[in-house]
Amino acid sequence: MPKNILIYARYSTDRQDEVSIETQIELGKFFVGERGWKLIQIFSDAAVSGTSFKSRPGIQALLKRCELGGIDIVLCVTIDRISRDVEHSAGILKILNHLDIELWTVHGGGRVTDMEVGIRAVLSQELIEQIRYRTREGMKSAVRKGKAAGGLAYGYRVGQQYDAKGDRIPGMREIDTDQATIIQEIFREYANGRSPIQIAQELNRREEPGPRGYKWRDTAIRGHVNRGTGILNNESYRGRTIFNRRNFRKNPKTEKREARMNAETTWVVVDKPELRIIDDALWDRVKQRQVAVRDNYESTTTNKLNRTHRPSYLLSGILRCAHCGGPYAISGKDRYSCTNRGKKLPLDSLDGGICTNSKTISRQELEDRVLTCIPNALWNLVNIETVITATKQSLAARQAKAGTSIPALEQKIVAMQQEQKSVLKQITDRIQANRPVIASLDDMVDELEGKNTDLKQELEVARTTKPINLADGVTPEVVQRVINAVMYYMREHADAETKQPFITMIRGLIQQVAIGPAENGNGVELFVHGAIVSILATMDTIKAMEAEFRTAQEYEFHNLIDKGVLDTEPKRKKFLALCAEELEGKRREWQDLQVSVVAGAGFEPATFRL
Ligand SMILES: [Zn+2]
Repeated sequence: MPKNILIYARYSTDRQDEVSIETQIELGKFFVGERGWKLIQIFSDAAVSGTSFKSRPGIQALLKRCELGGIDIVLCVTIDRISRDVEHSAGILKILNHLDIELWTVHGGGRVTDMEVGIRAVLSQELIEQIRYRTREGMKSAVRKGKAAGGLAYGYRVGQQYDAKGDRIPGMREIDTDQATIIQEIFREYANGRSPIQIAQELNRREEPGPRGYKWRDTAIRGHVNRGTGILNNESYRGRTIFNRRNFRKNPKTEKREARMNAETTWVVVDKPELRIIDDALWDRVKQRQVAVRDNYESTTTNKLNRTHRPSYLLSGILRCAHCGGPYAISGKDRYSCTNRGKKLPLDSLDGGICTNSKTISRQELEDRVLTCIPNALWNLVNIETVITATKQSLAARQAKAGTSIPALEQKIVAMQQEQKSVLKQITDRIQANRPVIASLDDMVDELEGKNTDLKQELEVARTTKPINLADGVTPEVVQRVINAVMYYMREHADAETKQPFITMIRGLIQQVAIGPAENGNGVELFVHGAIVSILATMDTIKAMEAEFRTAQEYEFHNLIDKGVLDTEPKRKKFLALCAEELEGKRREWQDLQVSVVAGAGFEPATFRL
């Protein structure tokens, strides 16, 4: 027998980016049709917020229809159509369970369980915590092992040293002499009184490629003294590597990530005299001049930091032009383009030239392409067991709370009814005294009645809540399904409030996206920077490349045996040792991968930074 279906759709006009009611209904109808089900009725709420029963006649009518019987499934596009509020969705889900009706989503392609609702509530917070922890720990241990945190700095390349036998020493990094000469010039010129802008202009005039192959920019030279950023503040140049200087924490009041200096005792300092490019005398002269001009630039950087602006879009504020380094911003119809190019301003970073990067990209395409690399990173990063444990704890706490809320709800309902009575009495008194009835009293009765209905509904939910079997329900598969759903929401399918906690999470992974023309001249290429690059580069990507490399080595090994070259045990051992060492060197290169997100291809390593 075909199942009987009710479709529910909701749209709120105060939100941007929502799927229209018509589209939601079309998606629902298609889903029902595909399965040979029977569509009984469609309910919808337009231009209302997602949390109150009273303001949503559509969902009220739907629940009334459910009570009449004969319905098997309520279908909506995503769970947040039912309610933005997790507690509230859980409540409606329970009412439906009580009536033996299943809740399905088009996106999930199946039945929604209590578990999924519960997991969504804990997931974003848990993921943010884990991302912060894992990236910091990973970078700390990388520094302890003598590797450069976050890739090779300008001035260095992967080591190419050989021992007496002619075998390569797996060195981490070594000085790139050409780049080192430029660094020394920058330090000298700055110490002698030239500004970072003048230095950048001069280098660009000579067509010296800057860090990562970009044009030289004054900001890349100047950096920030306290944060140790920029060429002039890079401790590597005086033979030291420092990590854990700062940490980023979310300020609970402003919801913004703030950089804070860690106590010097927690810094990880590794001496690397062989990497020294600048002698102490020149380093000190630069530091003295920085102190002298400090007032000048601290005021400007402080202003920048004080801009408290909550990002409205997934990537707003972290987009850069790959050519001139200027910001990419929305211009015209939801498309991003280089702001400097738009202004046609001569740029210091281009030696007075005008930015020629005319590539624009729609916000949706940009977000879609960047989001393609997130799930991989999450699977590499997140300890699913931890998420499962946290979810179980949260669901248990929720159940305990639901049990104790019954008396409180009953009290509230009694109080509400008394208030209603008193208002009704005022109305009757006025009528009996032949005084005109006041409209606002009438409205109060309606409003109280609405609140009353909400509370009764809530009470019904609390009373009918059955304990969930936590041990069975929360599985890695369910967590995976929820993460997939989150990625789906991020692609324009949810309202801003549903997205917001996940936007914070994703921006924790991506620090910058540079946008420029693709090498073949067609389309746009994106260069993603941030924790996500090291996560991808150090985990999945490396594993894949390592597997490939090992296969090639094994093939070569057997090939040489067949040819009779490796005819003795010592020779074979020697060959295998060389292979291991070569692999070790390769691994370091792979860790400096840049990841380029190419349209249609997901992510793939595009550029090696050497
Ligand atoms: Zn530009």
